Amino acid sequence: MSVIICDYVHPLLRNKMPSFFQSTIPKEFLANCHECNICKPVEASFVEQVRILGNSKCCNYQPKLPNFMVGYLLETKNTLFRARVFSNPHAQLSINPLGVCSNSSSIVQEKLNTLNDERLNRCTFYDNGRCGIWNGVNGICASWICYSIAGFAGRKFWLHLGQLLERIELELASLCLEGLGIDTHVKTWSDSLPETVINDWQAEYPDREQFYRSCSTIIKQVPKAHIEFLFKTKYNQAYNQLQQLYLKAFRTTLCATLTFNKTLEIVNDSGFYEIILEPTTGYGFKVNRFFLEALKQFDGRPITTVRQELKRKYGASIPDDQLLLMQNNEVLI
Ligand code: SF4
Ligand code: SF4
Repeated sequence: MSVIICDYVHPLLRNKMPSFFQSTIPKEFLANCHECNICKPVEASFVEQVRILGNSKCCNYQPKLPNFMVGYLLETKNTLFRARVFSNPHAQLSINPLGVCSNSSSIVQEKLNTLNDERLNRCTFYDNGRCGIWNGVNGICASWICYSIAGFAGRKFWLHLGQLLERIELELASLCLEGLGIDTHVKTWSDSLPETVINDWQAEYPDREQFYRSCSTIIKQVPKAHIEFLFKTKYNQAYNQLQQLYLKAFRTTLCATLTFNKTLEIVNDSGFYEIILEPTTGYGFKVNRFFLEALKQFDGRPITTVRQELKRKYGASIPDDQLLLMQNNEVLI
């Protein structure tokens, strides 16, 4: 089953994205949030790079919700969101012209870095094992795939997509402020808003909910061409990189010739071999000795030749999907 990249984009932006976002993508069934990988007992979990976190799933993270997304959640009558943001005096949230985010330094952390201690930072919108704002969640959360079927290449694609969407979202939140005549000088989520700006904003917009709805209205009226322009000019480099990562991760055809990538570090781990793809985090595949030896036979000859040889000498065959995964992850190049 396949979906399109746009399915991971906020509903207000979905029909304004460049055509690339219509590209199909296989359903990421390994990140099955209904039976979350990291909530399973250790022995049953195949996600080895993240820790087991009780029942918090991957939601030890406070999303940054741009003003127009706040407006959207209010318009769609998301009662949980409204109650937890606007009627909760204990919420550790910053409610400001740019949107709603954590009021602690954790707002600059990436979701990946907050997976370590569930007591630290469970998301305000986490609701009994579910996301309480899934109908209008930001790009980082919507595109968070803990374990991609495309392995490391897929992981790189998803991380890049989330980061790019976050930048576009911030850009559009600033556009809303411009549209409403508010000059904050704030360029990133981690910039602190001067108190005078907050005070002026509160004085000018005593009805905060109405303010956020106005932001949502502005984004509804933003032409598709404007958002395409952002991708193709200011964020051109990141956008091109996203398209390359997509091709790498989700290619469906095997190259005619493949060579085992000898530059990768391989660690012998009690009978298995770990092929390290990302030295900084240790992310990699575990393979058995026979599979590793089979991979090493790919030496630039046509893959059909190598496969015939493997069959003849060892009675071994490597299915297409396994070879594709190795190719897309650059274990075979
Ligand atoms: S993406 Fe998050 S909620 Fe979904 S399976 Fe992975 S860790 Fe669990
Ligand atoms: S907004 Fe939803 S998906 Fe994102 S961290 Fe919170 S509960 Fe999880």
